[in-house]
Amino acid sequence: MAQFSGAVKLADLNDFITPSQACVVNIHGKKEGGVKLDFDDLSQPPEVGDVQPQPRAPPGFQQTAPSGPNGAIKVTLQDCLACSGCVTSAETVLLEHQSAAEFISKLTDPEVTVVVSISPQSRAALAAFYGLLPAETLQKLTGFFKGLGVRAVLDTSTGRDFALLEAAAEFVERYRETHPELAEPSEDDPIDVDDRVSSSREAGTSGRQPPDSKKTHGDYVLPHISATKSPQAVMGTLVKRHLATQWGLQPGQVYHCAIMPCYDKKLEASREDFNLPGASVAEVDSVLTSGEVQQMLEAHGRPLGELPSAPLDSLVGSVQEDGQLYGLPGGSGGYLEYIFRAAAAQLFGKQVEPGPLPLRMLRNADFQEVSLNVGGRPALRFALAYGFRNIQTLVRKIKRRACEYDYVEIMACPSGCLNGGGQLKRHPGQSAQQLLDELDAIYHDPQVVPRLPQDNPTVAALYKQWVGADVASVRARQLFYTEYHKRDKSIAATVGDW
Ligand code: SF4
Repeated sequence: MAQFSGAVKLADLNDFITPSQACVVNIHGKKEGGVKLDFDDLSQPPEVGDVQPQPRAPPGFQQTAPSGPNGAIKVTLQDCLACSGCVTSAETVLLEHQSAAEFISKLTDPEVTVVVSISPQSRAALAAFYGLLPAETLQKLTGFFKGLGVRAVLDTSTGRDFALLEAAAEFVERYRETHPELAEPSEDDPIDVDDRVSSSREAGTSGRQPPDSKKTHGDYVLPHISATKSPQAVMGTLVKRHLATQWGLQPGQVYHCAIMPCYDKKLEASREDFNLPGASVAEVDSVLTSGEVQQMLEAHGRPLGELPSAPLDSLVGSVQEDGQLYGLPGGSGGYLEYIFRAAAAQLFGKQVEPGPLPLRMLRNADFQEVSLNVGGRPALRFALAYGFRNIQTLVRKIKRRACEYDYVEIMACPSGCLNGGGQLKRHPGQSAQQLLDELDAIYHDPQVVPRLPQDNPTVAALYKQWVGADVASVRARQLFYTEYHKRDKSIAATVGDW
């Protein structure tokens, strides 16, 4: 049995569809040999929430999928949702390389220097669990990891700020390409930020989508996915290309572990798309979840608050990090909020007032939209869609060419990254919503004046001193853009064609 946390254990890996069967697709998209599966027509699937999981076979019994008319195994959407086949076989091996045990083994490896980066959502979760302030939490974690032999502990907020700047520039460029009629901004045109999105104008979607959505919706979503790397991947670039050089090391001599709020980031780190160009060296070698870090602390025997603090590390010698979280609105990095404002300014010369945008709730709190009207006409239409039910609705719209949005912030988890599957467990008696509210209050501390990505002194210094060029320059794109590739169509796209 492979154990990743108290919450996730991979066991009895052939519990539903055996790994030898063709449902298993490995991380590189190659189909495993075995029984040919006949997939049901999934073109008119039920809503995800309406699906009842298939009953499980009792322990010790092999469960079988129902047979189709030609004897081939039939796989329905229900089967897919009930099955852990996506991570049962090939990907399990990769996940084992991303365990706490593997990380600890690297600490005693004389061939590598270990670096840890910590996401703001993980920090908020650990701060809540141990009753510490966010800055204090980072100082204590720095002390803990350095005590284990880590050379530098970094804040992933730096990667997030690079990602926001590059993603906004990418959106503006794509918008200009698809709207050649766009006039020079006029100061006379009044603007109106509206919580209603008019459907009177045909529009495309340039959405931020989680990397693994390519596994299921390749043909439809790939052209629309932002090419800007995720904050985790940007941190990988900063560690393996900037920090390693500063230390006089080759990228392969540095082992980079990212602390993240979910297990999906382990799979993202494993994608070859995120390797150094032309090399088999990963920019993020492993990912540990917030929960796995808490387990390491538990094994260490002392709560985080009792451990000694250490000064915060910085990627730029002249910049002293202050350890604040500076969370933009939303729990997933603030893409919609930041890009909406940047696009209003850069495309239409309009400054949108500070404060959270007036998003209108659609089907539920995880599907919301907002628009910018300029001169009485809709100019920008943005939405956020969190959770697979809402993502599914959106993909159907894209397929029907009925998607009216210019940009959609998509996150797999309902409520976003603060609610990631790798976060810490609730305190006894605490509801899921209470925990989420607690994390949100830490992440969006009203005492902390929000800081825009361009005002992050580390980011500004790195553009100047290391990138040597501006946001969206050729050099910046070489560093901070990636490419996504579709998985094996014969399996992945068919299973996910819903
Ligand atoms: S939304 Fe969930 S799955 Fe996606 S990156 Fe955030 S925590 Fe991970």
